Amino acid sequence: MLVIEDDPDVRDAVGRLLVASGHVVRLSETALGGLHEVTTWQPDVVVLDLGLPDLDGTAVLRRIRATSLVPILVATAREQESEMIRLLRAGADDYVVKPYSAEQIEARIAALLRRGAGRVSAELVVGGLVVDRRARTATLDGTPLSLSRREFDLLAYLAGRAGTVVTRRQLLQDVWPSESHSAETVDVHLTWLRRKLGERAAAPRYLHTVRGVGIRLSPPGEPA
Ligand code: CA
Repeated sequence: MLVIEDDPDVRDAVGRLLVASGHVVRLSETALGGLHEVTTWQPDVVVLDLGLPDLDGTAVLRRIRATSLVPILVATAREQESEMIRLLRAGADDYVVKPYSAEQIEARIAALLRRGAGRVSAELVVGGLVVDRRARTATLDGTPLSLSRREFDLLAYLAGRAGTVVTRRQLLQDVWPSESHSAETVDVHLTWLRRKLGERAAAPRYLHTVRGVGIRLSPPGEPA
């Protein structure tokens, strides 16, 4: 269970409570640190404070959802209903309004785990390509692909939007968890991914470049 919270008092209190309830807990005080934990450690639940110093909470939510199905409980001080609906639409599973009680957050987490939020459709199938977003593994025609963390994120993101064109800007925004990258970063990773899939840009099977727009992942033989 991962708690992303910049307020040290709240962070420690929630951490202690969850540990006392028998959970394995990691704490992160920044959005970027939290995003790193999500992809490397793969927590069973994320408790996400929306007011973080380094990234907007909604952006963090969208970035987690770009590649992971982990249940997300949002902790917010903003009480407007419109905000909540926006957050739930952006991929949050539930929310608590600050200041929340220990019992409240524990009950919400228990409900998320019981409901098995995030357990559905962890597997994406596109032609002979199978991407398991929970195990973070991928196979092509039954053969496991050896992918770096970022290559996997990229593939999972594209596979989750199979058949639609995704722009470089979208990829940078949703797959790269810091602002300091350029479109070239995307291109380099796409080239690597293409190589791992055993194809060339000139003769694509899955990764189709749409000139001037972006990239589309679709199964071989499907008309452009
Ligand atoms: Ca905060």
